[in-house]
Amino acid sequence: MSHLSIDLHSHSIASDGTLTPTELVQRAHAQGVDVLALTDHDGTGGLEEAGRVAKELGLQLVPGVEISISWNGVTFHIVGLNIDPKHAGLQAGLSGLRAFRIERAEEIARRLAKHGIEGALEGAKAFASGQILGRTHFARFLVEQGHAKDMRKVFKKFLVHNRPGYVPGKWATLEEALSWIHDSGGQAVIAHPARYRLSATRLRQFMQEFKDAGGEALEVVSGSHSAGEAQGMAQYAKRFDLLASCGSDYHGPEQPWIELGKLPALPEGCTPVWQNWDLQGQTA
Ligand code: AMP
Ligand code: MN
Ligand code: MN
Ligand code: MN
Repeated sequence: MSHLSIDLHSHSIASDGTLTPTELVQRAHAQGVDVLALTDHDGTGGLEEAGRVAKELGLQLVPGVEISISWNGVTFHIVGLNIDPKHAGLQAGLSGLRAFRIERAEEIARRLAKHGIEGALEGAKAFASGQILGRTHFARFLVEQGHAKDMRKVFKKFLVHNRPGYVPGKWATLEEALSWIHDSGGQAVIAHPARYRLSATRLRQFMQEFKDAGGEALEVVSGSHSAGEAQGMAQYAKRFDLLASCGSDYHGPEQPWIELGKLPALPEGCTPVWQNWDLQGQTA
């Protein structure tokens, strides 16, 4: 048996990715991925199509979602893995988040208009073909209009705290996100834990609360983590008795430094979140 290629965090046009679910799964397959989770932001609209294509190609598709939460004024992302997208409570929760996204988008557009940038709502919508409207769609519009050179610069200039197009998040609570994930049969993972802008003390406090509230795993290996960060997060997984996940957080070929399935192995001593999953060809 060979080693499985596992990628448990990715996006399609159902949220702020640029590939259709079909294209995403085809690309994962071409990259040799055996197990892929589609984890669109605050919606599951891409899962049916992705599941169909995965079945045709013999790739195992893990139904997932990436839920936005607010915790003490900070936005965190919680990935749910092996959720049941048909679960009514989960869907009611996610549709509330999407409703907030619409209000927020209107407010972002008002603030940008005050800053002299007109038509941002329509502009962002033109880049959004799925269920959600996000900052990424505004970013693509602003780059297209020449207000910044690339995605990284446009976020920094307009869309983060203390910038003209920033609107604070009013997302789910940690408890809500965990209950939606667990009630629908899934496991909860703190996404890209090294990417949050807060002190180590506060990050540890969040991990402890997540664990105490029943959260299962930490995304130790992420497309946005350095090797050193993965090692640090492996230590945290051990310290808080959390399982370890790995995911590229792939959004599309426009970010060529991130590829589906091209992830380092979990550091020594981690217990994989998939340890009790029914995977074909799994090695110990
Ligand atoms: P939202 O959930 O609408 O607030 O948008 C968050 C998304 O914006 C993330 O999932 C990323 O896809 C994207 N994003 C956040 N910060 C950056 C950044 N600095 N550069 C590029 N994309 C970013
Ligand atoms: Mn995103
Ligand atoms: Mn995220
Ligand atoms: Mn993501």
